[in-house]
Amino acid sequence: MPTYIVLLGPPGAGKGTQAKMLVEKFGLPHISSGDIFRENLKNGTELGKVAQTYMTKGELVPDDVTIAMIHQRFARPDCTPGAILDGFPRTPAQADALEMMLRDFGGHVNIVPFVTAPVDVLIERLTGRWTCKANGHIFHEKFNPPQKAGICDQDGSELYQRDDDKSETVTRRIEVYFQQTMPLVEYYKEHNLLFEIDGDKPIEEVSAQLMGALQK
Ligand code: ADP
Ligand code: ADP
Repeated sequence: MPTYIVLLGPPGAGKGTQAKMLVEKFGLPHISSGDIFRENLKNGTELGKVAQTYMTKGELVPDDVTIAMIHQRFARPDCTPGAILDGFPRTPAQADALEMMLRDFGGHVNIVPFVTAPVDVLIERLTGRWTCKANGHIFHEKFNPPQKAGICDQDGSELYQRDDDKSETVTRRIEVYFQQTMPLVEYYKEHNLLFEIDGDKPIEEVSAQLMGALQK
């Protein structure tokens, strides 16, 4: 049976950072909807153009577009053993669509680690985030600085600050999270899949909580 782990939580909680750790431990692919949109944006695809208009405002890309994109990603053979989902689903409609998709692959969501942190922490993390151009590796100028400023430790590529990590957009993204994504907390709680993780701890401590949850 394939294994599907859904990382849930507000922007800046540390989902991407933890997903990269889980990939190394479990050897499952990391499916980040935000990364796929940014890749399309970089390559100037139609999907990228559509997504950009929403992303720059901090709004969600419409469900039909997002669901179709994830569906395509699941069709790739590396997803056969399962996946670590980061940033998808973000709405109840996406969660329903995910269940249907996974049924087709003979699986279902196995666990939903819900990573949280207070809003002021989220803002400080997002506005200090530096992302690697080549592969999306994640750093923070204060909490997880690269060895050499502006350069990715893992692949030597340039680091940049995402447009949507500017403070006006960050505020909107957090609002959108509370309005549109929070209902999923109840949804997965009802399905007995939710596992709360205190994201307001150093990266290694959050990883340890997560590993504890996943080993159960
Ligand atoms: P998300 O994917 O949930 O938006 P990220 O993993 O990209 O979050 O993390 C947001 C920012 O916070 C990044 O700059 C990252 O380096 C930093 N960060 C992640 N986890 C922690 C943590 N536990 N403590 C301090 N900073 C963190
Ligand atoms: P974060 O690191 O803050 O969690 P992401 O990289 O996951 O941000 O997402 C960046 C942007 O991409 C979102 O603000 C939204 O515009 C778009 N996006 C990503 N995932 C989804 C999704 N599942 N549904 C709709 N829009 C999405």
